[in-house]
Amino acid sequence: MHVTLYESGRDIDHSPRAATTHPSTLEMLAGLGLLEEFQSVGLVARHFQFWDGTTGTLVAEFDHEVLSDETPYPYVVQTEQHKLCEIGLRHLAAMSNVEVRLGAAVTDLAQDGRGVRLAGDPDFDYVIGCDGGRSTVRKCLGIEFEGYTWPERFLVLTTLFDFDKALGCCPRSYISDPEEWTNLFKVMGDDLKGRWRAVFPARESETDEEAFSEAAVERRLRRLWRDHPMDSLVHRNIYRVHQRVAKSFRKGRVFLAGDAAHVNNPVGGLGLNCGIHDAVELAETLDLVARGEAGEEVLDRYERRRRPLNIEYVQQQTVVNKKRLEERDPKVRQANFDELRRTAADPRLHKQFLMRTSLIESVRKAARTA
Ligand SMILES: Cc1cc2nc3c(=O)[nH]c(=O)nc-3n(C[C@H](O)[C@H](O)[C@H](O)COP(=O)(O)OP(=O)(O)OC[C@H]3O[C@@H](n4cnc5c(N)ncnc54)[C@H](O)[C@@H]3O)c2cc1C
Repeated sequence: MHVTLYESGRDIDHSPRAATTHPSTLEMLAGLGLLEEFQSVGLVARHFQFWDGTTGTLVAEFDHEVLSDETPYPYVVQTEQHKLCEIGLRHLAAMSNVEVRLGAAVTDLAQDGRGVRLAGDPDFDYVIGCDGGRSTVRKCLGIEFEGYTWPERFLVLTTLFDFDKALGCCPRSYISDPEEWTNLFKVMGDDLKGRWRAVFPARESETDEEAFSEAAVERRLRRLWRDHPMDSLVHRNIYRVHQRVAKSFRKGRVFLAGDAAHVNNPVGGLGLNCGIHDAVELAETLDLVARGEAGEEVLDRYERRRRPLNIEYVQQQTVVNKKRLEERDPKVRQANFDELRRTAADPRLHKQFLMRTSLIESVRKAARTA
């Protein structure tokens, strides 16, 4: 099978986006021969924690080790998304059946029963639109992107300050606070020396300039640690957050995958994981057809598997995750904390919780869907 990759950018996007890679995805990266290098430029995080930001106390800690009977990788790996892109591109360059075209934007497509034409190029048998949340391919197909956009944007502040030493939190910590929650996690950076990303909700009325101002940045970081040194700040970023799923993942010979098919808020770190699961599922299915081991009817299975799973495991989970962090009602907050404590303390519930958050359950469910 010959593959052509069209990428509108000339360079890899280095802005801080996905970092948490779950056990189910690590299994897939291992299968592709990418895991060793991927893990070597990131950090292994066995635990994650929920904190009550109003009292500065730990509510519950979860330990992936309880999954050791279920996966060879009972941990998450925190490696920045741009590093995975770099590793992936290097591997593609070594494949004789793959052509990578950087700086080549897809602007239009047309299809009939025999193939798909991308403006100016000869027909392809199939096209996968994995061109992000604003997907041109999805728009060309006229597929609706159902869902909504959250009113608040998310602000990411990256700092060299070591929150682990100061707060005693682990490299993946969720801090619930009715005034302003934080999602705090560590990545290694390109120099592998380590840095922390703190994600906060920006107020609806706050402009980007206001959110980036020294005063606002200092206020937010010093709510976490009152002596946070401001010269440790290395990056600031702000972005809109959506919960949306394409009404269909396929039209004829064209498929949607990754953010082109679904977008979600990043609390729980599921978006890219789910996109990689789409890609692996679709590549395996197309390969079956290309080898003549299955008829084209098997291609319908991609949407049957991937769309409901995204809604059940990614959309619903990330909405629950966000609401848990931002909850304002004191009674509901306490009930949420009690539930987390009860889940963490009970070995059966602890494992059940991680089977879901790690997406292992969703991968197994997909395999059972004919
Ligand atoms: C702050 C933040 C934190 C996140 N954290 C996590 C996390 O911890 N774990 C997780 O799993 N997910 C996380 N995510 C989500 C994750 O970043 C996305 O799900 C992921 O980037 C989707 O990958 P993609 O390849 O589908 O889309 P994109 O990353 O958007 O890539 C699409 C590519 O298509 C190219 N393109 C666009 N249009 C065209 C065109 N017309 N022709 C050719 N090329 C085109 C773009 O240049 C781009 O390179 C996070 C997101 C954010 C914003």
